[in-house]
Amino acid sequence: MRILISNDDGFQAPGIVALYNALKDMAQVEVVAPEHNNSAKSNALTLHTPLYVTQAVNGFRYVNGTPADCVHIALTGLLDYRPDLVVSGINNGPNMGDDTIYSGTVGAAMEGYLFGIPAIAFSQVEHDWRHLDAAASKVREMVTYLKEQDLIGQTPWLLNVNLPGVALNQMGQFKLCRLGRRHAAEAVITQKNPHGQTMYWIGAAGQAKDDADGTDFHATAQGYISVTPLQIDLTDHAHLKDWVQSICDLNHITGI
Ligand code: MN
Repeated sequence: MRILISNDDGFQAPGIVALYNALKDMAQVEVVAPEHNNSAKSNALTLHTPLYVTQAVNGFRYVNGTPADCVHIALTGLLDYRPDLVVSGINNGPNMGDDTIYSGTVGAAMEGYLFGIPAIAFSQVEHDWRHLDAAASKVREMVTYLKEQDLIGQTPWLLNVNLPGVALNQMGQFKLCRLGRRHAAEAVITQKNPHGQTMYWIGAAGQAKDDADGTDFHATAQGYISVTPLQIDLTDHAHLKDWVQSICDLNHITGI
């Protein structure tokens, strides 16, 4: 098995080192990750700046780009083989509910999925890196199981996994979840720079709005590891038919 690892916190983040150490004995593992923190970069690709790949002393390769850049480059020319699995993380903080739209951790995994490769995004709910060893241990358990079940093969899938930041003996079971929802983000924060210009800092993510039983928010709050299969078709299938008449009328009004 050959695994490509990336993240959005940067190649020096404790989470990616833990991920590498958790998987290095069970596969041929390669790390291609952003040089700097690229949280909230989603699936952004860098199109107007050249990208450079540099090898760190520990063998990790880092890129002056986004998480999706890293996986994209790896899969389209940097690696001379096709990985069997793309794994992203372990992120410093949760990627639940609406976070998955913005998340660079999910973006890196999604880039692998877009290329037809099974992919998993791992995030630790707490931001303090405590109990990273416990999270890494559960990552290893999960990947080992998926391998043994022959689920790491030709059929691509995309899993979003959030691990509570607790010790191994406190960690709950894996729990299949749907995504919850957050309230809209907090207000932007403004400050003056030394030249009197106004600076805007994007505010914090909103609190959970839908954290009902069955959601990732609910599961991780109970100490479980949330596992959510993701898709990339954003079509609102449930309401597709509600728009039929409106679009028909629009064409009529505009005379097309
Ligand atoms: Mn991050």
